[in-house]
Amino acid sequence: MQSEKENVRDNIPDNEPGHTAELRRYRILELSLLAVEAANVGTWLLDEETKEFLPSKRLKELFGYHADENMSYEGLIAQIDLKYRNKVIAGIENAMVNREHFHMDFRVTGLHDQKQRWVKALGGMYSDSERKQFHFSGVMMDITEEKQNELRKNKFIGMVSHELKTPLTSLKAYVQMLYAWAKKQKDSFAITSLSKVERQVKKMQNMINGFLNLSQAESGKIQLDKQDFDLGELINDVMNETKLITTSHTINFLPCEPIAIHADKEKIEQVVINLFNNAIKYSPKQTVITVSCETIDNKVQVCVKDEGIGIDEQDIDKLFKRYYRVENKHTENITGFGIGLYLCAEIIKRHHGSIWVESELGKGSAFYFSLPLAKNAEAN
Ligand code: ADP
Repeated sequence: MQSEKENVRDNIPDNEPGHTAELRRYRILELSLLAVEAANVGTWLLDEETKEFLPSKRLKELFGYHADENMSYEGLIAQIDLKYRNKVIAGIENAMVNREHFHMDFRVTGLHDQKQRWVKALGGMYSDSERKQFHFSGVMMDITEEKQNELRKNKFIGMVSHELKTPLTSLKAYVQMLYAWAKKQKDSFAITSLSKVERQVKKMQNMINGFLNLSQAESGKIQLDKQDFDLGELINDVMNETKLITTSHTINFLPCEPIAIHADKEKIEQVVINLFNNAIKYSPKQTVITVSCETIDNKVQVCVKDEGIGIDEQDIDKLFKRYYRVENKHTENITGFGIGLYLCAEIIKRHHGSIWVESELGKGSAFYFSLPLAKNAEAN
């Protein structure tokens, strides 16, 4: 026997006279549903007023329900892992109240099969054609394999960079010892060569630390080893050292006052080095790079300013995103991974600070970060 759907479809040939708009709309809807089924994604609809929840069969399967079983909105929420549950609820509420788009990845444990799955959910508020009744609807898909591959990749990057870190640290120590010895011997060739080796080793060390932090950030596990220290002294040390080996640019550095903070010294040093290296990388030779720090209210604010290529307004919001690189004629020959600023932002965020940039295309950039002073940091 022919189903009702097939009946309607057979009766609506394209462009046939008398073919009503409503029937055409019905057919488009039907074809869209077939496309959704073919893509193996689950769909849902949540009525704003009545709170009626209509999940598709596939959606129920994603949450470990039987396809013919009832699943309520509360039932769906209950299968979301605790780590993500409140975030998902808040995201859905925000999307409903503020009419914003909803996009989130989270893990669920199936009700009957107890299987763990990663789910990507996309949705938003939609109204019916007369804009009377709003409902929240969207799609969810299984991204478990994708997520597992990403986790494997992160683990691999983390392991490799961890293994590379130890020999590199020892290499650096020997180079520094040799450098001191060459200075004693007044061997100018060895001094120049070793200072170049040291610079390259530092570059590599910075890169490896970046990859290590990336893998930790991806798994939400940036580890902070906090201590009390003087940020002014740290910046002075970094700058005095870099000043000696940077010949391409003029460095304008106003020594910082003592500033006590409670933070992960190595990671904050990395932020300063990243911002400084970017200033060099994205500005022409012989231009000026200015590094300054000041205390404002109960925060310390550090600024690295250059006279380089600058950044277009449309890129500014995206700069701190993972793997984001500006692509234009000024940057086409400059290589990079697009992780430096993402990591700076993650590190600063974990310290309850802020990071931002003021820039104009062709007119240079000023990158800032601020951190709470030691007495305020303790409260965090
Ligand atoms: P990478 O330099 O490896 O690409 P980053 O995350 O450090 O990665 O920077 C992301 C992007 O931000 C860069 O690709 C570049 O386009 C832009 N950028 C960073 N610093 C500056 C700067 N000082 N001036 C102009 N553009 C910059």
